[in-house]
Amino acid sequence: MKVLVINCGSSSLKYQLFDMDNKSVLAKGLVERIGLNEGMLKHTPAGKDKVEISDNIPNHKVAVKMMLDALLDENHGVLKSISEISAVGHRVVHGGEKFSGSVRITDEVMNVLKECVELAPLHNPPNIVGIEAARELLPDVPMVGVFDTAFHQTMPNYAYIYGVPYELYEKYGVRRYGFHGTSHRFVSAEAAKMLNKPIEETKLVTLHLGNGSSISAVKNGKSIDNSMGFTPLEGILMGTRSGNIDPAIVPFIMEKEGLSTDEMNNYLNKKCGVYGVSGVSSDFRDLEDAANNGNNRAQLALQIFAYQAKKFIGSYVAAMNGLDAIVFTGGIGENSSTTRKMICEDMEFFGIKIDEEKNQVRGKQADISAEAAKTKVLVIPTNEELMIAMDTVALI
Ligand code: AMP
Repeated sequence: MKVLVINCGSSSLKYQLFDMDNKSVLAKGLVERIGLNEGMLKHTPAGKDKVEISDNIPNHKVAVKMMLDALLDENHGVLKSISEISAVGHRVVHGGEKFSGSVRITDEVMNVLKECVELAPLHNPPNIVGIEAARELLPDVPMVGVFDTAFHQTMPNYAYIYGVPYELYEKYGVRRYGFHGTSHRFVSAEAAKMLNKPIEETKLVTLHLGNGSSISAVKNGKSIDNSMGFTPLEGILMGTRSGNIDPAIVPFIMEKEGLSTDEMNNYLNKKCGVYGVSGVSSDFRDLEDAANNGNNRAQLALQIFAYQAKKFIGSYVAAMNGLDAIVFTGGIGENSSTTRKMICEDMEFFGIKIDEEKNQVRGKQADISAEAAKTKVLVIPTNEELMIAMDTVALI
């Protein structure tokens, strides 16, 4: 069975075509600069060279068409007919409280998705446009929506209600939702396998550390807390996002710097985080190089990141009353031995101690804990696309 997974952003579309009989990737690609000048499709069929095609790509429907043409192409295609695609799985950022799991897409579901736009004005509209374009071009193919927020719908209300008037939750849905749920769910399941334990008997802290970072407490296979909140701005500081700050700083900066609401929102999302602290970069490779060359602010940014991650681990151990393993994933979690080392330092109280040599691993599943350590430290590359494809198969 062949399943196509689509992840639509405002000006991009990422895709992967899976053969679910053996869970292999038949082709993957990226359409960039949708709606801008000089768009580009980068298509990589399994075992063959990457193909790049530039063209004018005015909208997402054209992008979906280009992707389908690439998949069917005589030379670099992997399909003989479009009918070989059994189903399409779509990534959707925000499912609000309406979706606590993946769903088969219907007209009714599309209407509910549109209601969720207010909660994720940057992310949901391109997701919706992508689904609409795919439904138009593949009218007979069943489609499934997989939500970043769904895994966290098991959080208890005392974890998701903020200390503001309850009416704000009732009127506007102001609450913690949590994000990166598909990734936290995938790595939790993999971690249970690595621990050789039923997932229902595990206590895990999963750290998805990338350009956006979120940390989750996953107890008995269910998310009970996540560091991201009403939006993906909350939690630890990120590449360019501030993460948690005193809310009083917001009106203070707006007044001092004369910023509008939109400008302040943009400031907190794009100018802060390790980029804002270091003044160097949002990329951890640049920060590590700069810190190694004696840049104190780059070093400080890395220290803040590790310190905040440590505090989340501690608070989630308290929330779960125990810990079997911590799991590193995402671009930083999978690749940066420096960050993993900094986070795991001086954590013996929690039974956390890593093996320096094992910690040199990059982008591969590994147990990097020291021999006698009580708590396992695992590196697990995430695979949100495969998780979406698996949900899609399960639902159709
Ligand atoms: P993601 O958003 O999950 O794709 O993660 C992207 C981030 O991972 C980049 O911005 C880098 O900060 C980080 N990253 C990727 N490779 C490395 C590496 N080898 N060492 C340190 N950080 C890395």
